[in-house]
Amino acid sequence: MGLSDSIKSAMAEAPLNATCTVKIAMSKLPDSDKKILESALYDRSIKASVLGRALKKENIDISTPTITRHRNGGCLNCAR
Ligand SMILES: [Zn+2]
Repeated sequence: MGLSDSIKSAMAEAPLNATCTVKIAMSKLPDSDKKILESALYDRSIKASVLGRALKKENIDISTPTITRHRNGGCLNCAR
């Protein structure tokens, strides 16, 4: 498969307009935890990988690249 096809199929698997898992997880959290997660996301002293591990302990599965993208405002569907 050529690079162009690979990019197309990768994009189909992870469309830009897919709802980001940070947002999905956020909607399931109680308000108190939501605030904690929100401030952790804004706190750049917490590495995305560290935050991801902490979330995993709470049975919330958000990948490091997703956290990074969300932090950088790269999600189309997340209100900034
Ligand atoms: Zn997001």
